[in-house]
Amino acid sequence: MASINKIRDTFSPGQSEYNLPEKMPAYAVLKNKPGSFELIEVPIPKVSYDEALICVMASGLNFNTIWTIDSTPISSFNFLKRLKIVSNSNENHDQIYHIPGSDASGFIVKLGNNDTSWKIGDEVVINCNWHRNNDPLVFQDSLLSKEQKIWGYETNYGSLAAFALVKIHQIMKKPSHLTWFEAASYSLVLSTAYRMLISKNGANIRLGDRILIWGGTGGLGLSGIQLSKYAGCIPMPVVSSREKGLFLESVNQKIYIDRKKEKLNFFANGKHDQTIWKKLQNIIIQKFGTKPNVVFEHPGKDTMAASIYVLEKGGKVVTCAATTGYEISYDNRFLWMESKSIIGCHFANPMECFETNKLILEKKINPFISSVYDFEKAPLAIDKFRKNEGFGKVVVGILAETSNNKINKSHNLFQKVHINV
Ligand code: NAP
Repeated sequence: MASINKIRDTFSPGQSEYNLPEKMPAYAVLKNKPGSFELIEVPIPKVSYDEALICVMASGLNFNTIWTIDSTPISSFNFLKRLKIVSNSNENHDQIYHIPGSDASGFIVKLGNNDTSWKIGDEVVINCNWHRNNDPLVFQDSLLSKEQKIWGYETNYGSLAAFALVKIHQIMKKPSHLTWFEAASYSLVLSTAYRMLISKNGANIRLGDRILIWGGTGGLGLSGIQLSKYAGCIPMPVVSSREKGLFLESVNQKIYIDRKKEKLNFFANGKHDQTIWKKLQNIIIQKFGTKPNVVFEHPGKDTMAASIYVLEKGGKVVTCAATTGYEISYDNRFLWMESKSIIGCHFANPMECFETNKLILEKKINPFISSVYDFEKAPLAIDKFRKNEGFGKVVVGILAETSNNKINKSHNLFQKVHINV
């Protein structure tokens, strides 16, 4: 098996040329073994004219990797089969293995063409918006193009391997003040939150807006809180434990709602309990003095009805997910009679990704990592992420090692970051 240590010894950023091995170690889900997540050896993919090969230093985990492993709601091998139709790549994504991973930091080891502002050896961060440029719609908003995919979920050769295959347009500058781990952690969640809150394609928030944020210590939630504050708005985060609340306090978000402590169980015996929607509204008013005019939604089934109810008239629910279930019911009267709207958002287009990356480059926003695992421990990282135990992001070092990056696993990485006020 091609050893990760051998690749670590040979590859480092800043070189003008790299001799690539024929094979690489990769974590993959196997087509004939649903639920698997195995370390295997695969050929290095070929690079087409609009693609680049990235030597991966670190990989940030996201929920879509859990869906790939669990084949939920459908097998990701279905996406790989369809990708053949729209890919320019010589490489066939439709393999018997799927290498997931939609966030990465690393450096460029091969470019499909030289007509680009990037060069071999550049240190980069990858955003996961994968598309071809052949569809005019990508120039309006690539999320509208039917050819748009999420790299590392709907494509093969994601970031949980020594080398990853990306479109050149996915490449962004790595902020030099961040470790490889931090750099691999933020693009997916922060760009999604940027589109949901800041962009005209989302809620397009304005100074003074009041934003209810579910999962306040999650990857999306922490991104949402920081963006809200930076935009001069009032975040109203919800969490589910004292520990998570204390964490928010430690990063200067003093007011929040603990949904477990307040017993906010919106369903009783499988039915909506409207008194609990009202209870949430009262708690919000008591803690923040006002109703929200925007709700940052992603839990889905468990919370959507309450999200719509608690909004002030004319407010917006902006949603990008349904972690607790996507078949959602709510009382439509509270939507139409109060002129509210629901906005669907999915990741971010290249411009939104670049604007997001700029906020990190300029140190306006900080990434939040709760834990970092070495390459060999990637399955443990997946377990940790699945259990919803941490704050912020879980990251796997690929070539980067915790021992070389002054990351002590018991060290609280948050101590050095504070949410801007
Ligand atoms: P995460 O870090 O695991 O955070 C999820 C948060 O959801 C948790 O912190 C949890 O907070 C909250 N939550 C879970 N169950 C809940 C419930 N029943 N009621 C209220 N809150 C609940 O995950 P993430 O990275 O932020 O992603 C969140 C979701 O968004 C995932 O489904 C992910 O796939 C999706 N997503 C979609 C896109 C897109 O482009 N469409 C992009 C990024 C993420 P508490 O338990 O503390 O309340």
